[in-house]
Amino acid sequence: MTALAINETESDLNQDLHARARSLEHKYSNLGAQELVSRSANEIFGERITLVSSFGTGSAVLLHMVARANKRTPVLFVDTGKHFGETLRYRNQLVDLLGLENVSSLRPQVDDVSRLDPQGILFTQNTDACCAFRKVAPLNLALQEFDAWFTGRRRDQNDQRETMTRFEVANGKIKVNALANWTSEMVENYFSEHKLPKHPLEADGFLSIGCMTCTDRVAAGEDPRAGRWRDQNKTECGIHLADTEFKNIGIDI
Ligand code: SF4
Repeated sequence: MTALAINETESDLNQDLHARARSLEHKYSNLGAQELVSRSANEIFGERITLVSSFGTGSAVLLHMVARANKRTPVLFVDTGKHFGETLRYRNQLVDLLGLENVSSLRPQVDDVSRLDPQGILFTQNTDACCAFRKVAPLNLALQEFDAWFTGRRRDQNDQRETMTRFEVANGKIKVNALANWTSEMVENYFSEHKLPKHPLEADGFLSIGCMTCTDRVAAGEDPRAGRWRDQNKTECGIHLADTEFKNIGIDI
């Protein structure tokens, strides 16, 4: 097949995917979050959907909904090697508590670590490159097995997310943003109602939690995500950016 024919086929597939996302949005966007998760996990995508979870401060909500829908739903956790120990223990606690049966930890390729970041300090020099090989590459590899993934992103989290739909297309997959229309108050209420444990660092001022090396406490009244890559012009790790937006990072992965 010629390069032109391959490009046309990819373009057709992409158009089909966008049409499917629009149709799903039209049909299901008025459902409550639990119903949307249950339908997605058991009917719409079945075993072809996964939940990508950071096991951060708000993660227990979607993990709880997925567990109620189907405990065999695959859950992917990107273990960058730079997480807080508290996050890893919280992950284990939630997995046991919720009875999740299909949780995988994704790690960066050993060869990439030795080639790109042998001293483990790339985050001090090029955070986009570090996120690219520690997060984006392992996740993209794992997502090849799926048609869709759940995310816990919400419109109220930052400006880039405020127009987010519940079904969207990114990098050849459908993202199901089940909590897109939720607020932080709804998240708090859900934690209380279902007696879910909080991430242990939340009480210490960490309101949005990623890698230990790139997460800071936030002051009262600050944007909850202000502690992520503080003082840098970076607001997303890259897993929620389109391929075309995440380039020129200065490394070859
Ligand atoms: S958040 Fe920081 S340490 Fe973690 S992968 Fe990105 S740059 Fe590297």
